[in-house]
Amino acid sequence: MAVGPNPTKIRYDRRLMFLRAATAVTTLALCAACNRTPGPPPAPPPSVPSSVLIVTIDTLRADRLGIYGAANVATPNMDALAREGAWAPQADAHVPLTRPSHVSLFTGRYPAEHGIRDNVAPTLQADVPLLAERFQRAGFATGAFVASVVLDRQSGLARGFDRYADRLAPGTDRRPGDEVVSEAIAWLQDKSRFLAWVHLYDPHAPYLPPGRYAGEYADRPYDGTVAWSDELVGRLVQALRQAGTLDRTLVVVTSDHGEALGEHGEDVHGYFVYEATLRVPLIIRGPGVKAGTRVEGVARTIDLFPTLIEMAGLGAGAPATSGRSLAVALAGGRHDDQPSFGESLMPLLQYGWSDLRAVRDGRWKYILAPKPELYDLDRDPGELRNLVDAEPARARALRASVAAQLKLEQTSARTATAAAGVPPEMLERLGALGYIGAGGGPASPTRDGARADPKDKVADYKALRELMQQGLVALRSGRPSDAVAPLQAAARRGVDSHELHYYLARAYLALERWRDAAAEYERATAKLPGDAEAWRGLGRSRVEARDGAGAVRAYEKLVSLAPRDPIALMQLGEAYRDVARFQDATRVIREALAIDPAPAQYWNSLGTVLGASGRMAEAEQAFAEATTREPANGLYAYNRALALQALGRRDEALVQQKRAADLGYPPRAR
Ligand SMILES: [Zn+2]
Repeated sequence: MAVGPNPTKIRYDRRLMFLRAATAVTTLALCAACNRTPGPPPAPPPSVPSSVLIVTIDTLRADRLGIYGAANVATPNMDALAREGAWAPQADAHVPLTRPSHVSLFTGRYPAEHGIRDNVAPTLQADVPLLAERFQRAGFATGAFVASVVLDRQSGLARGFDRYADRLAPGTDRRPGDEVVSEAIAWLQDKSRFLAWVHLYDPHAPYLPPGRYAGEYADRPYDGTVAWSDELVGRLVQALRQAGTLDRTLVVVTSDHGEALGEHGEDVHGYFVYEATLRVPLIIRGPGVKAGTRVEGVARTIDLFPTLIEMAGLGAGAPATSGRSLAVALAGGRHDDQPSFGESLMPLLQYGWSDLRAVRDGRWKYILAPKPELYDLDRDPGELRNLVDAEPARARALRASVAAQLKLEQTSARTATAAAGVPPEMLERLGALGYIGAGGGPASPTRDGARADPKDKVADYKALRELMQQGLVALRSGRPSDAVAPLQAAARRGVDSHELHYYLARAYLALERWRDAAAEYERATAKLPGDAEAWRGLGRSRVEARDGAGAVRAYEKLVSLAPRDPIALMQLGEAYRDVARFQDATRVIREALAIDPAPAQYWNSLGTVLGASGRMAEAEQAFAEATTREPANGLYAYNRALALQALGRRDEALVQQKRAADLGYPPRAR
């Protein structure tokens, strides 16, 4: 009898340690470190918004908006919001990845302070305050409408929202923006005091603009998704206008990161920390915002938390953040801008190369890497001329600023993250999005100076990312034979990670190449001994390959990792049965039944083990239990008939035999 895997029960046990700053003390220290002379007192208090609508358009480059200078992308709705309100020409996110960047936006904290460093991090810890919680406590209706699996409630971002609409069709990783927007409009139409967050994922690769945008932007589909997203922003604004709430609502449009689109050799986002992926649009319209305002200097997405809290009048006792309120600047006052820190840990965590840290201070940007970089963004917005040798004093000063930030991180508490605690099904969905790399990063992101510079590895990164993604998409689409070649190619390029061996093993298992599957599962378990699913797969492969003793060893390990998983116990029990260890088999199958007595097949299994060890009366009782729980199963009735016959209870045996025959058992020989 085959018992299927139960992936939802099993968790990864990888322990990648991350630095984490969670205390208010650290947050204050960070703010103090970057403190400058305070700006002038705020202008007379403007009217206070009764509602706030935040639209984050994932993967949206600032320079694709008309107001930001794009000449050939139609973004009339966002441009109008900017003209009627304010916009920040130089706004930066802090990490070019969806989940950590959104968490920074909604906490006002840098990634090291909230602990979410990548898209596969565990849930945000409950003691990190979120923007929505503040609004909810103040009596606002709160609703979030998200479009990507990366931001589903497992992210921890749902805290504080009355409604968190994150439902995706099974097996999918996203949903179209018009669906999200319709849902949001239906929710906010009858609300007069709300905080709404609408997340659109359409500009995230693959770029598939719908309808007329597919034709109009046929040669540049990314731009097509931007124009389409602008139409969706227009629908939201129109809904507010029709409800009569637009002018009482603070409308914020921004993004979590840009898209490299080939700059510096990067296609998408997440790897480098150039402005192509860190720069985002930031547009705010509504009460308290002076129409036609340009917020000069650097604005940061961590500034939104204190900005919205202040503008909504919720500032008293608000949690400390590393952000600075932009309220004065939005009202037309002077913007006292602060340095913006950025990071990418992906090269380190997924490939074992160096991580990247950046600081932007005014027009200058410094990137800490094995080969450091310095750019003058006013003269060189594309970051093409490295001035680190030409401007040594400036480079030193900015390097010291990054070093001070890193030191603050290192004195903070640590937390486990990355794949720890992420269900395998979620990891696979993220992998199919291209977020799982080759794996095999070290245990902690220390800088030892000896790691490869991501600049020198960008070709490897692209090739490996592509191969892993291809393999995983094929595997998830039920084409295991197409998964093998790309995964093997990644292995030939030197990838030797747990993920690679695990996915290759899965492909071989689906192709019934049992010995190949077992060999890959062995490599996967050697890389990550805490991965219960890999031990389960190894057990199954060995059962099929008729390696009974090996199967027992694998399932024993599985049960030690998942002692309360009845399926694991059943698998071990049946492996014991197959090598005639009937006492052990009986013991663990009874343990499984104590946890979950419902499945008839467990009782049938118990019956076969008891029968094989000559305990026929107990076997008959187990089969009786199986037939009671699943009366339509002919096999169970047939087994019961055999047990009754062995016990000499012929009449009862005949009854069960007839019952089995009526149910088509045993099947007639052909
Ligand atoms: Zn994103």
